[in-house]
Amino acid sequence: MMSSPAGDRLLAYRARWVVPVAGPPLARGFVTVRGSRIAAVGVSPPDGAQVVDLGDVALLPGFVNPHTHLEFSALVQPLGCAEMNFAAWISLVTASRGNAEQPRPAPAESIALGLAESRAAGVTTIGDIATAGWQVGKADAAATDITAFAEVITLSALRFAEALDRVRKHLDDAATQGRWRGAICPHAPYTVHPELFAKLVDLGTERDATVAFHLAESADELELMRDSAGPLAEYLIARGFWIPGAIPRGTRPMDYLRVLARAPRALVIHGNLLDEQEIAFVAAQRDRISVVYCPRTHAYFDHPAHPLPKLLAAGARVALGTDGRVSNPDLNLLTDARHVAGKFPTIAPVDVLAMITLHAAETLGLEREVGSLEPGKRADLAALALPQHVAADPYEAILGSGSQVVRTMHAGEWI
Ligand SMILES: [Zn+2]
Repeated sequence: MMSSPAGDRLLAYRARWVVPVAGPPLARGFVTVRGSRIAAVGVSPPDGAQVVDLGDVALLPGFVNPHTHLEFSALVQPLGCAEMNFAAWISLVTASRGNAEQPRPAPAESIALGLAESRAAGVTTIGDIATAGWQVGKADAAATDITAFAEVITLSALRFAEALDRVRKHLDDAATQGRWRGAICPHAPYTVHPELFAKLVDLGTERDATVAFHLAESADELELMRDSAGPLAEYLIARGFWIPGAIPRGTRPMDYLRVLARAPRALVIHGNLLDEQEIAFVAAQRDRISVVYCPRTHAYFDHPAHPLPKLLAAGARVALGTDGRVSNPDLNLLTDARHVAGKFPTIAPVDVLAMITLHAAETLGLEREVGSLEPGKRADLAALALPQHVAADPYEAILGSGSQVVRTMHAGEWI
């Protein structure tokens, strides 16, 4: 249920803790909203503002989930079983949506379900991978900021033109309908011809569109690149999708990173197995390349430890994503942040929180709009219930507890 727009009135929301991310937490703070924008953030309300007491909550910027696959949101549990072979899992995913090169259009209901689940979890900005045909209803489009990445899956040179046309149309639709932002996702090294990959990156540059690419996710993927062999190669050969010579032997993630650096904004999805040189490169290119770590998906496959601490130490920009319900039991991004806080206790809690707010907004080029509580930004808020006796450190209460989001605001309206 949405409340009516507050118009030009100044509404000062008081919370036990206000956590702006861009600055230190404020005890008994206020976030003041005018219309769809944040007017002020402070320890007292501005003159003339109507105070609304939200009670024992922590008020945070609406969360930004830069990587999910909403088409799978109707799944009640991830596909396959935990720690299964990656190639076997991919075959379950493609089987669930038809043919690997001609997937079924995503059911609109699944996308709507995923958006609703995300909003309930405080997520107000989303980067969604749109595999085939993508649409969103008016109400959903009004309640979430959506960047929809048109996904491309083909190793065949015969299909380059068709793939590029489809992505151009997706970007045009986004520009004319205005309900979402268009973006581009060459799926992964094992499903996209390197030449087509480069053309898609260049299209991103031409159209100022963000480019997302699943890279360095599994050992199977690295083996396919290096040796044209292994379980993933066998899977593609068995289904007739393998194009001999399309991926030169000896290919490394670095070869793709160099191309990605041409894009205005590029998301390396996963990056689980980036090596030292690749980590240094990503860090040097941090204005253009971000890594999106999907913690619970990573854990689902039992990959070796994620290089998150090394990436942060090198200065890379890292955000967290939920990935889809094919590999994560839900779309609660805060739970992924808590997973990271538990697994990497040396990372400062405020830095973990930035990975689902400000840094996540930067990955999508939206840092002037969202990601922190600052005057002028869009009024996107997540209110988190706090226990009666909260620790002195609000970050501890947010990341160290199981407390949940109770209210979400998008563009000045409670959802
Ligand atoms: Zn993904």
